[in-house]
Amino acid sequence: MDSTVDVLSITAQQAFAIRKANFPNNITFHAPGLKHFSIDGFEQINKKAFLPISITGSGCALNCDHCDSHILDPMIPLNAKEGLYKMCKNFL
Ligand code: SF4
Repeated sequence: MDSTVDVLSITAQQAFAIRKANFPNNITFHAPGLKHFSIDGFEQINKKAFLPISITGSGCALNCDHCDSHILDPMIPLNAKEGLYKMCKNFL
């Protein structure tokens, strides 16, 4: 077996062991709150659980044809004076 693969395999096993030793076997998934949706076994109940913040406000330098920056419209614009950390802390 290639020695590079061995090193990667050992590292992944060690990382998994550390994860198992320090975290429970539960995974919590969050879904962005831009649109309401529900599927079998999952429904977006708390719109504030995953707040979308745009660091560029409603502007995007790329303006892709399929989007034209519209996905940014419902996002909360970053308050540059306040800063991202303080802004997020205020949401709590
Ligand atoms: S998809 Fe929309 S927000 Fe993303 S880079 Fe393109 S225009 Fe900008």
